[in-house]
Amino acid sequence: MDRNSVNILDEIVVDSPGRINLIGGHTDYNNGYVLPAAIDRKIGFRLWRNSTMETCNIHSKGYNEPLHIDLRKIEKSSVEWHNYLLGVIAGIQKLGHSLEGFDCEIESDLPIGSGLSSSAALECGLASGLNALFQLGLSKLEIITLSRQAEHDFVGTKCGIMDQFSSVYGKSDHFIFLDCSNLDYKYVPACMGPYQLLLLNTNISHRLSDGQYNSRQNECFEAVAQIQKRYANVSSLRDVDMDILNNTKALLSDIQYQRALFIVQENQRVLDAVEALESKDIESLGSLLYACHEGLRDLYDISCPELNFLVDYAKEQSFVAGARMVGGGFGGCTIHLVHENHMETYIREISKAYLKEFGIDLGAIPVHTSNGTTHRKLSDAAL
Ligand code: ADP
Ligand code: MG
Repeated sequence: MDRNSVNILDEIVVDSPGRINLIGGHTDYNNGYVLPAAIDRKIGFRLWRNSTMETCNIHSKGYNEPLHIDLRKIEKSSVEWHNYLLGVIAGIQKLGHSLEGFDCEIESDLPIGSGLSSSAALECGLASGLNALFQLGLSKLEIITLSRQAEHDFVGTKCGIMDQFSSVYGKSDHFIFLDCSNLDYKYVPACMGPYQLLLLNTNISHRLSDGQYNSRQNECFEAVAQIQKRYANVSSLRDVDMDILNNTKALLSDIQYQRALFIVQENQRVLDAVEALESKDIESLGSLLYACHEGLRDLYDISCPELNFLVDYAKEQSFVAGARMVGGGFGGCTIHLVHENHMETYIREISKAYLKEFGIDLGAIPVHTSNGTTHRKLSDAAL
């Protein structure tokens, strides 16, 4: 990575945030509603042209095996993290853009595999950086779409659109109420009075590419296929309400019914949560978070003892309005709405209890909503 011959002012710096999803678990790939926000934890990129036509070198701090690429031949790698980035480059080329050689350094303060969507931050960050470095003229939606496709095609995780959308469209002090069926969205002010967002990381790491995420998705799609036998106009669980679900229960396996029931209820909870936020009814918002966790635990079956422990603990505290697991499941983080006056004590006490129960240190990350991906030339203000 010889930067001596490079004009340093041409260097592009990108901040690509992770995201939380306040509510709307697993509804995105079912064309439903979600309520995410970008957060003030991010992956940072520095990119510059390296004067070659086809060679790229990407180094990510803390990751072995830097990625060396020949732009004439993009293929999957046996190193998992390479594939997110290779997929983005392949996606850009597929849109008809030609890239030239570049070098890139990546550094992150985003916990990995914890439900904060480091994978989307990684994809969207590189796509935005290349867009700026080579002035490709990609729209935000193109960046989102090709990043998601990269994860599908090169990693094998059939993620919905929410993660990439939030990372790019995030807005400080707001949640994004997003309709995943048509990408209509509106910003909802994150007015929660004295309540602040706290993420607690179980430090049990999931890997979304390990199959469980995709199998939940298939179960939902299978449920839709069964429901379509009676309701031909249903194209996703988004089109299903409780009447339709009850009328088709006999066609569904127990598992399919439970997965579908969770999604139908969860879509309604997102609508209710937007209403609660808009009327600053934090108690109702908190109850919706607890109900969401119960559904993810009992109907969607993607929780684990560590996540349940944290949410059960939260329920006992009068200064916690609500809590739930976030992300793909089986580990990762919980999100808590905690009264600011009790934040420090809460973190201390719940960490102690968690360590006693599981012998694992709990990660505590107070977070704030943030703007989406930004890029700038080294000497410029953020664009
Ligand atoms: P999540 O998106 O919830 O963090 P995923 O399993 O979807 O979890 O994605 C995590 C994967 O993304 C990591 O295992 C790694 O391959 C890749 N990744 C995340 N952050 C980085 C980074 N800073 N550098 C390289 N790869 C990263
Ligand atoms: Mg991910």
